[in-house]
Amino acid sequence: MLRIINSVKDWQNNRMTDVFLGKSVGFVPTMGALHEGHLALIKRSKSENDITVVSIFVNPTQFNDPDDLRKYPNTYEIDLEKLESEKVDYLFYPEYNELYPDNYGYKVIESEFSKKLCGADRPGHFDGVLTVVMKLLNIINPDKAYFGEKDYQQYLLIKGMVETFFISTEIIPCQTVRDVDGLAQSSRNKLLTKEERKRASIFPRLLRLNAGEKEIKEELEKKGFKVDYIEKINNRRFGAVRIGKVRLIDNVEI
Ligand code: AMP
Repeated sequence: MLRIINSVKDWQNNRMTDVFLGKSVGFVPTMGALHEGHLALIKRSKSENDITVVSIFVNPTQFNDPDDLRKYPNTYEIDLEKLESEKVDYLFYPEYNELYPDNYGYKVIESEFSKKLCGADRPGHFDGVLTVVMKLLNIINPDKAYFGEKDYQQYLLIKGMVETFFISTEIIPCQTVRDVDGLAQSSRNKLLTKEERKRASIFPRLLRLNAGEKEIKEELEKKGFKVDYIEKINNRRFGAVRIGKVRLIDNVEI
């Protein structure tokens, strides 16, 4: 049965009980509006751990655009049904003051890679992400935590943070889950109009194109996308585009 926990203290008291003795704990942090991408992480955690904890917290410190935060989809009741049908053990669902008693006075900042790609377009975004993930890992204290490759830069930064600060959780990357037309599933896809959703599948297709980044950018612009960046780092091509008011990100191995 799914148990919902709202306070840090309640969770910590619970975590110390015999229920957890000798049991492995898997953790999937999310911002809710759950889709198949989230469910793939949850299934993986279920298959590799005795106890699975999911968190839902729309983290305001990682939104550099107040409008983006205001519009972020909230499907809490449906999320609960999904967590129940996946047989998740615990939902950690805190309020802002629980996680930020200092009102974001303390921050975790990475000073190089976090300034590139999405960090260049969204100042402070990864400071917010790293800070909240550090807090959640310290609170939940899981053996393994699961992150999607859809947010590959985020995954690399979290992996780096965990290594740097000697956090004992293992960070597990999970493949991007896509719709049949190739678009990576994302909570923000819910904000696309029907026409925009149809057009959005051009983005992952062009990202895979056997061509240079400059050419791909031009092709995307011709199709009406506003391109934040298309960049290759090592053997991976990263992209972020805007379609209408919605920002989409993706990355592919090349
Ligand atoms: P979010 O709720 O968007 O913060 O995402 C929570 C976690 O789910 C993050 O680790 C994401 O990378 C992951 N995730 C989101 N979309 C997908 C997807 N389409 N495939 C795999 N993982 C995803």
